[in-house]
Formats: sequence, structure tokens, C-alpha cells
Amino acid sequence: MPRTDAPRVGVLALQGDVREHVRALLAVGAHAVEVRRASDLDGVDGLVLPGGESTTIGRLLRVFDLLEPLRGAIVDGLPVFGSCAGMILLARDVLDGRPDQPLLGGLDVVVRRNAFGRQVDSFEAELDLAGVAGGPVRAVFIRAPWVEKVGDEVEVLGRVGDRTVAVRQDNVLATAFHPELTGDTRMHELFVDIVESAKPWKKTVEGMGRDR
Ligand code: GLN
Repeated sequence: MPRTDAPRVGVLALQGDVREHVRALLAVGAHAVEVRRASDLDGVDGLVLPGGESTTIGRLLRVFDLLEPLRGAIVDGLPVFGSCAGMILLARDVLDGRPDQPLLGGLDVVVRRNAFGRQVDSFEAELDLAGVAGGPVRAVFIRAPWVEKVGDEVEVLGRVGDRTVAVRQDNVLATAFHPELTGDTRMHELFVDIVESAKPWKKTVEGMGRDR
């Protein structure tokens, strides 16, 4: 069981590999909360956008009236971690997307959807990632996007060849691959650290914040 004061991290649960993210979050000691409607965001300290299909997730965000509440929460500084389809949703623009595909934004990047090829072109790679200690991370790419342009505020955390596949901008983290599928929970640990340092009570209650 997570500690009572452990961060509550939502997982957008409309489509995609929700269970795998929930499992990884529990493994790193966070509370995991499935988010299907705007009211599920109450009391959530951070949010994961899972891998899946960004066009489907986008359509369901519209159906469930989540698009504007989520855009607002991200603008207000809610920490978010997107993997694969989640990275696409966080981009400011998408190349090779569907024309009507809605994005949430939050990351000043342009991504190319399905950039590494089709389903049969899925692959794995060992990646050294900035901010992740303990050796390379095994990264699973499934019809993955890559980041084609990054804004000045965006930190590149990792590349495959010369293609950017992991980025961070303040409290927003995104990977073109699926850390939730490998059992290596270091990306989730990094995200939960971001969530813990962003927790409002830590900033506002003087002297009560923990050291990390
Ligand atoms: N190609 C998918 C999309 O456009 C992403 C694939 C994934 O999340 N594994 O959303």
C-alpha cells in the first residue's frame, strides 16, 4: 500500500495501456487514480496520459468533456507524463495526424505521428536518458512518434540515433516509447519526483515541505 501522504497520480483511462501505468505507479509508491471525467481530477497531484491511439483518445476526450478541463489543468501547472500517444496529445502540433485530431498541448514540441513506421516496425532499444541513473533504459517503441521540433524551454532527455524520443518541459514529461511495458519503473519514479516537488502544499506550507 502507498503511504497515506504519497502523491495521487491520475491515469487517463479512456483507452490504451491504463493498467500497466497504474501498476508502475503503485510499484513506485504512488496512489493511482483512474480518470474518466473532469471530477476525477479533484485531488490529483499529477496525471499520466497512456500509450494507445491518440486519435481515439482525442475523440473520447471530446465525448467525455475532458478536453477543456485537462487543457486548463495543464496550463495551471498540473504535472503530466505522456507515453507514445500521450506524447502526441501533449504536443503543440502534430505532423501526419488526423486533421480533426484534438491535442491538449503543454509541451512546446512538434511531433511526427507513426514516424518510426507501422506496427510491424515496432522495435526496442537501450537508451541513456538524462535524469535517469542506473544505466540505459530498455525502451519499447510501437508505431511511435518522434519529436521533430523542440522549443527553447524543452529539455531533450533521450534520442534514438538523431531522433528525439524523450523530453521534459518543467512539469511535463513525455516519451515516444512505453516505460509502462517493461517493468523498469525509473521513468515513473522520475515523474513521481516531479509530482512531489510540484505538490502545492509543499510550496505553500512554510517549513512543512520534505527535503526531496
Ligand atoms: N501511433 C499511435 C498514435 O498515433 C501511438 C502508438 C502508441 O501509443 N503505441 O496515437
